[in-house]
Amino acid sequence: MKNAQINVPRLVRIKPGALQRLGLYLARSCMTPVALLHSEGLLQSILDIARQSLRDHGIASALFHEVKEASVEEAVRLLGAVPSSCKALIGVGGGKALDVAKYTASLAGLPYFAAPTSLSNDGFCSPQASLTLEGTRRSLPTGLPEAVVVDIAVCQRAPLTLWHSGVGDLCSKFTAVSDWKLAFHRRGVPVNDLAALMSDASVFQFMANPAPDEQGTRLLATALMLNGVAMEIAGSSRPASGSEHLISHALDMTGARERLHGLQTGTAAYFVSSLQGGNHHERIGELFARTGFWESVRKQPFSKEEWRIAVERAPSIKEDFYTILSEGDAWPEFDRMIAHDPALIGCFE
Ligand SMILES: [Zn+2]
Repeated sequence: MKNAQINVPRLVRIKPGALQRLGLYLARSCMTPVALLHSEGLLQSILDIARQSLRDHGIASALFHEVKEASVEEAVRLLGAVPSSCKALIGVGGGKALDVAKYTASLAGLPYFAAPTSLSNDGFCSPQASLTLEGTRRSLPTGLPEAVVVDIAVCQRAPLTLWHSGVGDLCSKFTAVSDWKLAFHRRGVPVNDLAALMSDASVFQFMANPAPDEQGTRLLATALMLNGVAMEIAGSSRPASGSEHLISHALDMTGARERLHGLQTGTAAYFVSSLQGGNHHERIGELFARTGFWESVRKQPFSKEEWRIAVERAPSIKEDFYTILSEGDAWPEFDRMIAHDPALIGCFE
């Protein structure tokens, strides 16, 4: 598990107005022309900020493309469309477009600039892309972005539900690290202590101000980014993904409606932290109560039947991936909590 070399982002800007300076960051590295991929339906005013910034700093955009589909097929099509003169690839928008941009950049061997416009999960700076291949969702290795440009003011304009999703994905680091340590004790899976510590510490750091204001958004962006770096250090997804992500993946396969990743992983983390013991369950509960996380879940309650199927399927989703779910049927505890935990009232139907 020792990495000969890891590549971490060279440039990190997490502040209000960062998108207005995108062109400046590129100009400083003489990166022109560039290809810019953005989310479908991204606010025109946000796109205009990025475009204007490129123009202001003399950065030519050789390709400006709206990503419509988070698939390997789309990335391969884009690879053919990116001119060979391009010096960098930029992703602006939400999770899907950024995953396609990151994967396309990795295929093209180009430096990748991630400019998320919401913080709904840790994917903007993780060393993998979640894309479909022939209709089946896969996690594909990519390496980390060359640059992370998070405009706090832009992210604060995103719907609160997306922020809650980011909080949920962040809390799942508690359970992921516990599963990792469990896998070490039961199966001898090596744990990278620094990566585990970074992952855990990033949640505690956010807990200092878990509010959707400027400071809270900055803390959330920093914490989610550090999780991606922890994955790169560990050379595995273990610091950021455990049993709660297995359940979320199973829900993606069984669920009739597509739901926000972090609402799924956060809710699953709340359940599995109860199975794991220790005080993470209480911490997650407190954080969700303070941030109003459950309100976003209640807006569109989960299906209890879909969760039952997902919890049953989850342990067999990833081969050789020991978690708390490997220790026996978890559903009775889920079922008990759904029936009796006041925090979950209205979250399932
Ligand atoms: Zn996640």
